[in-house]
Amino acid sequence: MTEDGAATGARYIGRFAPSPTGPLHAGSLVAALASWLDARAQQGQWLVRMEDVDAPRCVPGADEFILQQLATCGLVPDAPPQWQSARSPLYQRALDQLVAQGHAYPCACSRKDIEDAHAAQGHTRERHAALPYPGTCRQGLQGRAGRSWRFNATDFKQKQALALYGHALTATNTAANHLLQWHDRRLGEQHQDVTQAVGDFILRRADGLWAYQLAVVVDDADQGITDVVRGEDLADNTPRQILLQQALGVPTPRYLHTPLVCGDNGEKLSKQNGARALDLADPLQALASAAQVLGLPPLPNPHIRCISDALTLWVAAWRRNYNGAP
Ligand code: GLU
Repeated sequence: MTEDGAATGARYIGRFAPSPTGPLHAGSLVAALASWLDARAQQGQWLVRMEDVDAPRCVPGADEFILQQLATCGLVPDAPPQWQSARSPLYQRALDQLVAQGHAYPCACSRKDIEDAHAAQGHTRERHAALPYPGTCRQGLQGRAGRSWRFNATDFKQKQALALYGHALTATNTAANHLLQWHDRRLGEQHQDVTQAVGDFILRRADGLWAYQLAVVVDDADQGITDVVRGEDLADNTPRQILLQQALGVPTPRYLHTPLVCGDNGEKLSKQNGARALDLADPLQALASAAQVLGLPPLPNPHIRCISDALTLWVAAWRRNYNGAP
């Protein structure tokens, strides 16, 4: 066991999975610190995975810079980091499995086709709201060329019910059975009807890139991740990931979604809305701000200048808050 409690071959394996679309900012440090603290509090392993499947959005060098920023904050992974861009064969194998099981189908629809299908049904859309896929290609491409691959969420839920009850869902019990319930260690009980919220979602995009949902599920399973600790903005992605885990027959990790940091405009801090890179000149101050967002105590002694002392203090506080320690 290492000094701060990391065990080798531990039962707990956590991860921080940044997209290298820019340097870490105050918001992403909260997720990084939380996932590190949770792993240390449970004497587990902490991994870093670079989620660089969306190559056009990645910034060259951002991955190495992020690793440097983490190290400056005392957050060093227990194994060499992984890059999703090197893992394409694993995603292909998972897609092949889903296709063979009848859980995935090719889709010919463009964004415009999806908007038109909604308009034809008289649906209006709130600004910026994503449109659930209306299922146009679920029964076949009807002579059109497939562009992307989708997970057949609707059919998967029906098949699950069939396996459970021995008969297909009726109109009255469909809604209840489509509701996916899950527990978040911070947010409590959660539920979502994936078929209504997003519909049959993308696994491989029309431009050939792997979708986040597939890559994250394959990697979490392949790396034996037992605990996902990440920002609350991803909480509503979790039901899609649980469905994929069930379809692929891999375990569902425990989930904990951390509070978000908002900018002056009240919006979530993100690289897209111009969040500033972490100030590496004072990593302890950056960590103290992240700890405050997580409800952890301020440093008792303002003269503490040693990052490892501060982290030790927060591991104990985290254990009390989230792991039921006295
Ligand atoms: N790569 C995602 C992001 O940076 C995080 C994915 C995850 O933690 O599941 O927003």
